[in-house]
Amino acid sequence: MPELPEVESVRRGLSAWLTGATITRAQVLDARILGTTSARNVPAERVVSFERALEGVRIVSVERRGKYMWMPLAGDGLRGDSVAGGSETAEVDEWALAMHLGMSGQARIHEAEDQLHPHTRAVFDVAGPAGVGQLRFVDQRIFGHLGVERLVPGVAGVGATGTAGERRLVAESASGAGLDPFEGGFSVPVVARAFARKNVAMKTALLDQRVVSGVGNIYADEALFEAGVHPAARASRLRISRIERVLEAARDVMARALEVGGTSFDALYVNVNGESGYFERSLQVYGREGQPCVRCSTPITRVVLGGRSTHVCVRCQKPQRLR
Ligand SMILES: [Zn+2]
Repeated sequence: MPELPEVESVRRGLSAWLTGATITRAQVLDARILGTTSARNVPAERVVSFERALEGVRIVSVERRGKYMWMPLAGDGLRGDSVAGGSETAEVDEWALAMHLGMSGQARIHEAEDQLHPHTRAVFDVAGPAGVGQLRFVDQRIFGHLGVERLVPGVAGVGATGTAGERRLVAESASGAGLDPFEGGFSVPVVARAFARKNVAMKTALLDQRVVSGVGNIYADEALFEAGVHPAARASRLRISRIERVLEAARDVMARALEVGGTSFDALYVNVNGESGYFERSLQVYGREGQPCVRCSTPITRVVLGGRSTHVCVRCQKPQRLR
């Protein structure tokens, strides 16, 4: 599943292509992409209103928090009453096209005459500063999602003075997501204190998108290894400095992954040009069960924690250290 570095790679590609561009036509080829994995029956009217809401609008920017991505919209094409649950008095710039890659979603930039991939679920014709082309959403397993959403104030970060910072506008589906480690208002000490109040395994705390967003299974395992903390260690029993070390490691490892375009955990993750990242070559524990630890040569162990495959070096990652 794409995590922060992969979604950010896609966001950068989309931003270069789509900022300031107008959507001249929106076409949903498979209505299920507007639903959710638990509600895939999407009425035809919703497809029509989704397409109408987007035609003629301008993409202001491409934004991201954690694994959530959205494009704030401006222009006359948007009408509040054409959006599910919307009001007719809504300001045009209060809406965004939300795009969640899910497990296997791809956002691809194409020429209009390029052959259509069989798993293409939606096509947006765009014209803007970067030229004329198509944004295509390809999703084999349809765990991804597209929707027109309201912009709402998100979770607050930490301001310059250490008090609560500004609440950035985010797509409604991202309203419960905590700041990700790449955001300016993200504070390692503040998040570490939030972790310390949780009587859960460190890995579980890292995967909880409400506290810190963007970290998924791969980078959680990598961050815990780098910090020398066992994934099952109780957050509430760790020294604050150890928790801070894990958060710093998460930020570092994701920054390094972003530099090389992310991790191609399966063939489906590609950037907007169809290229895969190659951070999987630098993974130290994830997917390395039975292979020697890069630091001590102990074979890496795979355990299941909270239903997730977890990779650990039992020698480098000490089970528990009391505060
Ligand atoms: Zn080791």
